[in-house]
Amino acid sequence: MRKFLSLIAGLALASLAACSQTTPEATSQAPATVQAPASTNLLLAEWTGPYSGTPAFDKMDISLAKDAMEIGMAANLVELDEIANNPEPATFENTILAMEKTGELLNRAYPYWGIWSSNLSTPEFRAIQQEMAPKMADFYSKIRQNDKLFARVKAVYEGEEFKTLASDQQRLAWLTYDGFASQGATLQGEAKDRYAAINQRLAELHTQFSNNVLADEEGYVTYLDDTQLGGLSDSLKAVAAAAAEEREHPGEWAITNTRSSMDPFLTYSDERDLRETVWRTYYSRGNNGDQYDNNALIAEILKLRDERVGLLGYDNYAQWQLQNRMAKTPERAMDLMEAVWPAAIARVAEEVADMQAIADAEGADITIEPWDYRYYAEKVRKAKYDLDSDLVKQYLQLDKLRDAMFFVAGELFNFKFTPVPEGSVPVFHPDVMVWEVTDRTTGDHIGLWYLDPFARTGKRSGAWATSYRSHETFNGKKTVLSSNNSNFSKGAPGEPVLISWDDAETYFHEFGHALHSLSSKVAYPSLNGGVRDYTEFQSQLLERWLTTDKVIDQFLVHYQTGEPMPAELVQKIKKAATFNEGFKTTEYLASALMDMKFHTVDPTGIDPQKFEAETLAALHMPKEIPMRHRTTQFGHIFSGEGYSAGYYGYMWSEVLTADAAEAFAEAPGGFYDKDVARKLVDYLFSVRNAVDPADAYLLFRGNEASIAPLMRDRGFPVPEGVK
Ligand SMILES: [Zn+2]
Repeated sequence: MRKFLSLIAGLALASLAACSQTTPEATSQAPATVQAPASTNLLLAEWTGPYSGTPAFDKMDISLAKDAMEIGMAANLVELDEIANNPEPATFENTILAMEKTGELLNRAYPYWGIWSSNLSTPEFRAIQQEMAPKMADFYSKIRQNDKLFARVKAVYEGEEFKTLASDQQRLAWLTYDGFASQGATLQGEAKDRYAAINQRLAELHTQFSNNVLADEEGYVTYLDDTQLGGLSDSLKAVAAAAAEEREHPGEWAITNTRSSMDPFLTYSDERDLRETVWRTYYSRGNNGDQYDNNALIAEILKLRDERVGLLGYDNYAQWQLQNRMAKTPERAMDLMEAVWPAAIARVAEEVADMQAIADAEGADITIEPWDYRYYAEKVRKAKYDLDSDLVKQYLQLDKLRDAMFFVAGELFNFKFTPVPEGSVPVFHPDVMVWEVTDRTTGDHIGLWYLDPFARTGKRSGAWATSYRSHETFNGKKTVLSSNNSNFSKGAPGEPVLISWDDAETYFHEFGHALHSLSSKVAYPSLNGGVRDYTEFQSQLLERWLTTDKVIDQFLVHYQTGEPMPAELVQKIKKAATFNEGFKTTEYLASALMDMKFHTVDPTGIDPQKFEAETLAALHMPKEIPMRHRTTQFGHIFSGEGYSAGYYGYMWSEVLTADAAEAFAEAPGGFYDKDVARKLVDYLFSVRNAVDPADAYLLFRGNEASIAPLMRDRGFPVPEGVK
């Protein structure tokens, strides 16, 4: 059952930030009736060894993967049916808690599945994944459509007993109820059928939308000859030549219609006409009036979403989406965005003026257009913010950064990290290292931290955090098995691995997710879940300790001389972080505002192009910048529902991050203030989802987060009247 709740929460986590966090669940006892098949499949066997048992990562056998998942899901459905068919009246104990106890076998199998899909993928596994995807979707919809089970959950949530429950139990009952109700379980008869029909049609439309964007990304290529390469670096040229070769245009250079190709081309190419061509092609994806045009799909998606939430009694789609987020209402999310917007577009005017001055001085005789923005911004960056990234790297040694993270965890969380004795904990690859986490004062065992730092074939890109086992106490204490994963390149033997500033921040970010898991004190497994606009906040916040004096002086030391990073260099890094913030904030906010407007307006007869143009005009959108994701290519909100009416979430958690960081900066002990650190652990980390995030934040800070710290971080003036 825990998979069901985490699925709902998990949908949104996938691309909210540079990383994603997955939260496989804790184990618990399953009824004897479903234990039998486990004995024949190693992936379903009980975890053994020290530290309350750990996954047998050294014995993974891919031929068992499919069976393990199928047996796990089948067993989980049997368990839930037993609860649904209980002849006794529904109680918190025999329904909600009983559901928390289900899924033992699936919880054993899932960490292996996760390793194969993220850390050790192969063509063989991808085939199994593809085969299993519809079966897993079917598993979740079977749970959602279990009317008898929902009737019992509803009876508990609406019954007299509810009022007598502890607050975390009430929250668990509500989350369980909401997991069904928000997906249409309260509907009957015709409305129920219509709800299901809409969902089915939406699934088709979402897929078609992303396929159309993909078709336009693959269908347009700008080919260059050797007279059109001015400004491009050797490495860019090499990538473009390979892309042309691949498309059977040998001897030419290809700029493909993707962000990773468009962005550097617009930044560096001296060919203004070509920049315009590439820009227009990219920002026209899904809007070319052909068979891949997304406008009609968008109109239908908006109409169906509105109709579907209407069946549940909501005024608009955004209201439905935000009810269980920290923001709670579309109005509050809009207020935040509209408060930041004027400063963002004012900064754009300054940035354009800086760029125009450079163009004029060069005698370019142009007015800055959207296809000039990245190109001239790069010239401004060189003149005003230049940073020698090779020099910065010399102070960022991978091992020292890990020691820095352990130091911060010790100071804030009172955690101690000790390598486990060699061979005591199975790992899935020789690169993986494991530490035991204990309480620095009492020596109590808290959990294990697995680190898989290096890139390899079959490992997904980027960095992420996951847990193989989460904290719970309601059915016997379970300790945490947490992991961080990244893709650093191994150094030469005996040489320190040096990484970039961005990578160092990401390293801290993912460790923030790990600390969030390790510090959990919740009683019930489902309360370890995330809230969409809140779950990146804790990890973003941890990044701030990278630039504290104690970390710089002890750990950001030159790999040859041992000298700490000079203060001027730290200042330069901080200043460079505000470069082009007008552009970045405006392109992001334009998309986030559009998302919310699309999902709060009456969509009857909507023309997406007209709506986009009118909305941008009303916002006084600077003509030099397009939305980061124009409507017909806005996959976050139209390829599925994970981010629809949720794109604001990035900024929401950044506001919290900046405000919470300021709480430390203002404290007598700064970022290592014991009192603020205690509140951080007690209210923002250890409670996970057992407390409403808005209430938790109030307990930490004494008031709601202000946007002022975010404005200062971005180098924007703080609006009048904002403290
Ligand atoms: Zn993250």
